[in-house]
Amino acid sequence: MAKLPKKPVDNWEIPPVEALRATPDTRVADIVTKGTPGFAGDKALGERLLEERGARLSALQELLYANGRSGDTRSVLLVLQGMDTAGKGGMLRHVIGHVDPQGVDHASFGVPTAEEKRHDYLWRIRKALPRNGQLGVFDRSHYEDVLVVRVHNLVPPEVWEPRYEEINTFERELVESGTTIVKVAMFVSLDEQKSRLAERLERPDKYWKFNPGDITERGFWPEYQKAYQAMLDRTSTEHAPWHVVPCDRKWYSRLAVTELLIDALEKLDLDWPPADFDIDVEKARLAES
Ligand code: ADP
Repeated sequence: MAKLPKKPVDNWEIPPVEALRATPDTRVADIVTKGTPGFAGDKALGERLLEERGARLSALQELLYANGRSGDTRSVLLVLQGMDTAGKGGMLRHVIGHVDPQGVDHASFGVPTAEEKRHDYLWRIRKALPRNGQLGVFDRSHYEDVLVVRVHNLVPPEVWEPRYEEINTFERELVESGTTIVKVAMFVSLDEQKSRLAERLERPDKYWKFNPGDITERGFWPEYQKAYQAMLDRTSTEHAPWHVVPCDRKWYSRLAVTELLIDALEKLDLDWPPADFDIDVEKARLAES
């Protein structure tokens, strides 16, 4: 089978990687969270495309996996970082849900455990990095250590301040060792967050998602905006740029992240690994068996 042909990205006026990439001018306070940057279609089209493009994502992930099984040491890591209710869970179900679970290395990062606290903040991150040929997905990440930690003064500034540069160095090493990092910062508005939290209080099937602490965190919105701004300003690098994804419209954010992953996988320019056996010999043996 020939290499998967590259298809043009329909209905995007600007390719998603360009439309969403953080720039030095990105201002967190000005993000239009209802926006659909670069995309010309409506919800119905977005949802249809998500299915179509999900199939493409799945095919490309299979190529990555096949190459990993054949000795290729590359991998892709999706880093999802966002405000509560931005839709990280939905991203896993509706985007990553398209691909074969055996090719996914998923990790989520909550309040550090007692054991994790005994180590450097990157310790648990290093342990969870994707294996060769895998699509890694981080639901929260090492960026918590310059977000929640900074907002709540969990460590003094002289400890969190150097982390931006440490993270840049860490990610550069990761990229040099063959991991493509796709960083996605997910933003909802304060109002949209309120209505999503209200839904969690109304619907029995959503109670399990409700965490009273999420309401407390709303009181820290300006501090979080400042911390997210610093994160974008200081850790959006050539080797691992941030993508700023508006998340008030779930169909858009899911389609956008699907496209970011497709782009990252296409850039690996993978082909099916060649047979490491003599095909004619094996055919003859099979015929005789
Ligand atoms: P979610 O809210 O994503 O469903 P959890 O219920 O596990 O997941 O909550 C994760 C919580 O852990 C968040 O409030 C997050 O800010 C917090 N957290 C993650 N990493 C750290 C960290 N390094 N230090 C302190 N808190 C953290």
